[in-house]
Amino acid sequence: MASARAVPEVREVADPVVPAGGVVVRVQATGLCRSDWHGWAGHDPDIVFPHVPGHELAGVIEAVGPGVRRWAVGDRVTVPFVCGCGRCQWCAQGDAQVCPDQQQPGFTHNGSFAELVALHAADTNLVAIPEGVDVTAAAALGCRFATAYRGLVGRARVQRDEWVAVIGAGGVGLSAVMIAKALGARVIAVDRNPRALVLARDLGADHTVAADGVDVARAVADLAGGGSHVSVDAVGSEQTAADAILSLRRRGRHVQIGLLPAVEGLPRLPMARVLGWELDILGSHGMAAVDYPGMLALIGSGALSPQRLIERTIGLTEAAAALPTFDRADVAGMTMIDPART
Ligand SMILES: [Zn+2]
Ligand SMILES: [Zn+2]
Repeated sequence: MASARAVPEVREVADPVVPAGGVVVRVQATGLCRSDWHGWAGHDPDIVFPHVPGHELAGVIEAVGPGVRRWAVGDRVTVPFVCGCGRCQWCAQGDAQVCPDQQQPGFTHNGSFAELVALHAADTNLVAIPEGVDVTAAAALGCRFATAYRGLVGRARVQRDEWVAVIGAGGVGLSAVMIAKALGARVIAVDRNPRALVLARDLGADHTVAADGVDVARAVADLAGGGSHVSVDAVGSEQTAADAILSLRRRGRHVQIGLLPAVEGLPRLPMARVLGWELDILGSHGMAAVDYPGMLALIGSGALSPQRLIERTIGLTEAAAALPTFDRADVAGMTMIDPART
């Protein structure tokens, strides 16, 4: 991308240099995510143009920098989209997802819509891909799936039989539906796209609500017998965040996963309800590599199947064409990119 909102093009760029403490990975699969669209649209102040997007990736280590202890050339790896510095107090306590010196491939430096990508602080951030998990499914974990997992498990602490309302059934929303069902919760999925709601049903959603022209909060609250225990805004807008919060029952927990970029202004949220009903508002910003084993164990056991969320795999040229309209694309499920494909 030459500049914000410029037509993205596929072309030769210099190979990334392997950083001290980091690695260069040969990308075998990478996801196209709404955050990439935000980056293209100029919503991310970290991005310096010209720029290579891409932050959900998996592949094989091509080169290892000085100081890396745990990794070798040829290892199959994936990585959270937030890479911690590996040196600060937050990284030391296992919270690399909020590291103040974080690196994000595809935002703070060139990303994975490429054959090669540099990753920093490899010993803190890399995750080995277990046998039996294919590289495309592993790439799908890095942002949307892991964020949904941490949002529901680590932040909202969803309990069996609780109601979970998921506003937005795109990649992160459908991940949340699958994960909430695996946790034994009852799920209501909300979206404007009927195809997305069909997928949500296939993944086990107990109810779906078509968001067009209805009072979403009221519809969800009625289905959940007076309000949901947990709500997720998987879109990121003033409207969807408010709908999610207002669909909760008293003492409910809201998880904000969809991005609310500063350029769109501060969202107005129903804080009187938050106060009066003692609602919890929780942010979720990816998941540190140290928290991956629990999620990978559920994938290994078959309880979670991220590969079911993948709708299609495309090449870089097609991805470049898709990126500018991705915010309004008629997609149901995840779009993955194979950089080896032209
Ligand atoms: Zn750190
Ligand atoms: Zn993403």
